[in-house]
Amino acid sequence: MARFTDETINRIKTEISLLRLVESQGHQPKRQGKDWAIRCPFHEGDDTPSLVISPKTNLFHCFGCDAAGSVIDWVMRTRGVSFRFACELLQNDAGLVAEGSAQPVKKNTTTKLSIPRQSRGL
Ligand SMILES: [Zn+2]
Repeated sequence: MARFTDETINRIKTEISLLRLVESQGHQPKRQGKDWAIRCPFHEGDDTPSLVISPKTNLFHCFGCDAAGSVIDWVMRTRGVSFRFACELLQNDAGLVAEGSAQPVKKNTTTKLSIPRQSRGL
């Protein structure tokens, strides 16, 4: 199972566009100055778009129900999954590679540890 380092999580949060993710889920963001707004999927009866997505920070915030967070929080809330699973989904979508888990397999030619153990007479 993949483990997520802070670096991977940071990459997910910064490299995956929240706006594009939201659009891919069928929302149609409306331009609002520098930001984009959609009808909040997290509370009922949001007639005027109150959930604002900021491409600059790649975060969302709803002025109606105060839902807020990153792409990871978005996936957790919209898909009802755990933090880790949300990371996995996003990572797969974006084709990001987890450190240590998806590296090309190298041929085992020089796997022997050959650390010289010279006695230097301390
Ligand atoms: Zn809301």
